Amino acid sequence: MEGSNNNNNNKNKNNESGILIVVEGIDGSGKSTQIHLVDRWLRSKGYDVFFTEWNSSETVREITSKGKKKARLTPMTFSLLHSTDFADRYEKNIYPLLRAGYIVLADRYIYTALARDTVRGCDQSWVRNMYSYARKPDLVFYFRIPVEIAVTRIISGRPKLKHYEAGMDLGLSKDEYESYKIFQGRIVDEYESMVSDENFIVIDGTLDIEKQQNTVRRNVLRTLKLKNQIRGNIARVSQLETNTDE
Ligand code: ADP
Repeated sequence: MEGSNNNNNNKNKNNESGILIVVEGIDGSGKSTQIHLVDRWLRSKGYDVFFTEWNSSETVREITSKGKKKARLTPMTFSLLHSTDFADRYEKNIYPLLRAGYIVLADRYIYTALARDTVRGCDQSWVRNMYSYARKPDLVFYFRIPVEIAVTRIISGRPKLKHYEAGMDLGLSKDEYESYKIFQGRIVDEYESMVSDENFIVIDGTLDIEKQQNTVRRNVLRTLKLKNQIRGNIARVSQLETNTDE
């Protein structure tokens, strides 16, 4: 694949074309709510937008779901299946659409794998290497939230936590809820360790939806402006600028 050459070649790729915007955070942090609002906003302004989410490849879904249901996955096979899912979406959608100038919105990106797989005991450099072909995003929003609040939101939406999301494969606790808190707490620590090096924009996930969305849009606007300045397409952005609160 053209997009999967070495790291050095990838370093400059985020200036090439398209815009890649990513949301990260633990489940219940509110990231999907925010990226959907951005999606609607940008589409309503006529931008070409593509939305992609973690673990959603048609090709890989069946086997991942089978392995998860039967609790048969080891940390390594869990990691490999998710990276296959990502590679499939990257080759088929993310990379070609960025090349075509789209704004690609990703609900979770490589940082999810880096955080989760590391907590599961995979070597972080091994994981990082698996995803080394992936373009660096133009923007990464990290939704920071205490685990307690996130879990309360999840439980109010559905009655039961899932085996792997609760980290039950790690034997942290026999109690699902306890295990979830320990596991997700460790994932938060991994995310926090990436904030500075990966230039995460930290969003306070405890704020109300509108407040968060305003901050998110301001940052999206700034990025669009920067990219469009490079491309000499200022008029396009000023149309958005007057309407960030819509
Ligand atoms: P995630 O994608 O991080 O799992 P979601 O966006 O799906 O999170 O939100 C999880 C739940 O929390 C949903 O029921 C959603 O409506 C609710 N929610 C999202 N943002 C907020 C917020 N700022 N305050 C209160 N509840 C929220």
